[in-house]
Amino acid sequence: MLDVLLWFYFSQTNISTLSPLSALSALAFMSEILRTYPELAALIEKRYKQPDLDLVARAYQLAAKAHGDEKRSSGTPYIIHPLAVAYKLADMGIHLNVVAAGLLHDVVEDTGVTLEDVRREFGDDIAMLVDSVTKLKHVRYQGVERYVENMRKMFLAMASDVRVVFIKFADRLHNMQTLYAMPKHTQQRTAAETMEIYAPIAGRLGMGEFKGEMEDLSFAYLHPKEYERMQRIMQTRVREKGVYVSRIIDHTEKLLEGSGVVDAQVHGRIKRLWSLYKKLNKYHDEISKVYDIIAVRVIVKDVEECYIVLGIIHQKWRPVPGRIKDYISQPKPNGYQSLHTTVFASDGEIVEFQIRTTEMHDQAEYGIASHWSYKEDEKSPKRLKWMQELASLQKALDNKKEFLDQLEHMKIDVFRDRIFVFTPGGDVIDLPEGATPVDFAYAIHTDIGNACTAVKINTVVKNLDTPLRSSDMVEIITDKNRKSPNADWLKFVKTRHAAKKIQEATKIGVKRWFVNVLRRGKRTSEKQPPAHQTP
Ligand code: MN
Repeated sequence: MLDVLLWFYFSQTNISTLSPLSALSALAFMSEILRTYPELAALIEKRYKQPDLDLVARAYQLAAKAHGDEKRSSGTPYIIHPLAVAYKLADMGIHLNVVAAGLLHDVVEDTGVTLEDVRREFGDDIAMLVDSVTKLKHVRYQGVERYVENMRKMFLAMASDVRVVFIKFADRLHNMQTLYAMPKHTQQRTAAETMEIYAPIAGRLGMGEFKGEMEDLSFAYLHPKEYERMQRIMQTRVREKGVYVSRIIDHTEKLLEGSGVVDAQVHGRIKRLWSLYKKLNKYHDEISKVYDIIAVRVIVKDVEECYIVLGIIHQKWRPVPGRIKDYISQPKPNGYQSLHTTVFASDGEIVEFQIRTTEMHDQAEYGIASHWSYKEDEKSPKRLKWMQELASLQKALDNKKEFLDQLEHMKIDVFRDRIFVFTPGGDVIDLPEGATPVDFAYAIHTDIGNACTAVKINTVVKNLDTPLRSSDMVEIITDKNRKSPNADWLKFVKTRHAAKKIQEATKIGVKRWFVNVLRRGKRTSEKQPPAHQTP
């Protein structure tokens, strides 16, 4: 395990001290691994049950033939790029149609192959994916126009089929890994766009792996000096603590073996540099306050074992008070689940443990994409509710000026935190932060919203405009004789869905609601505390 941890670290981040290359080209050098078709095929055979390798082979052959002798700015053959995109998608275990579309994602744009050719060879689904990715690329604006246009296209693509966004993320990631070959102004623009648009959307979708990788790659271009400083801090820390953490890992493995937890994976995880940078800023550069620079991660088969492992660790090492976090019973707004604890290990060293199941691990790395894996493909929804809300907003506002006005609000809607509340029957309802019982009622059913007269939150009667908090149990009391909702509710509801339904039932212009939302949006950006932060 010691070897694994050190190998992991030095193979990923220490190159700049070993070679005369600048940090940026070292970064690019380290992060771009040139993939070949046999490697892709081998990964698929390992990762998938009974994969349709013929499909992937045909997609590769068409892409290789179409791109021919074409080269990328980095000088490598063009086919390296679609191969990298497909490899990433296959590594996520996502359905092979998406992997095939990854191989073909640039052929319609850049070569003589038409969309009709793709459809004839590979069918409607793959053709649709390729078409959507191609459309997403036509961005020719600069500055704010470009930004808005890009946001708009991302939202639209997500709303129609979120698989398109997975391809787009894999595409962007490889472009970031090869950004060293581009002119300086392109580097800056692409890195800023990745940091401001792609990474937050990946975060919203719970795709921690993409978010983290995109942030670190952007960080290196946007703040090279700070990036190098973080690298140095990390190198020092790994030198000082790496061997010690490896011993803790060995020790933990033995404890688990002795207690009957079989097949647990125990390994070291190193904090990402952008995340370290943000944390250090928060703690005014006091590095001793950042306990999780190197953490120990334990991956087990089910939830029960997570708690067993937590008990075993606490029996061996005393927990630091106030640092036990149960994100299994109370997941983070983006769905993240794990148990975290920080312990006093031997010699007064402090070590953080993160305990989770394999499923939780996949969810943390790939978020909603993990629901599109080969095993669950049929059941998976391709559209998410909040994305549909965005799409319907987009349709209502095709005027660009109006769209610009709404952008601030859209960002709030998408990136604001979500809360998870419960029905009396135990169902979980996902709402934006600050949502009220009326939003909850309409999220369940329009009839319940229209007929709602009172609410009990955690069995206590409350006002209908009370902001809900995560894990509240909400019981709506309805009145069958009630004819329509109260138009005044438009003043406090937080979801577009509720506003629309109230407006339909009361025939009052939805404009009034927009005005309120914009006002609220402004207030948010002025950093006033949300209304529900009562003492
Ligand atoms: Mn591409």
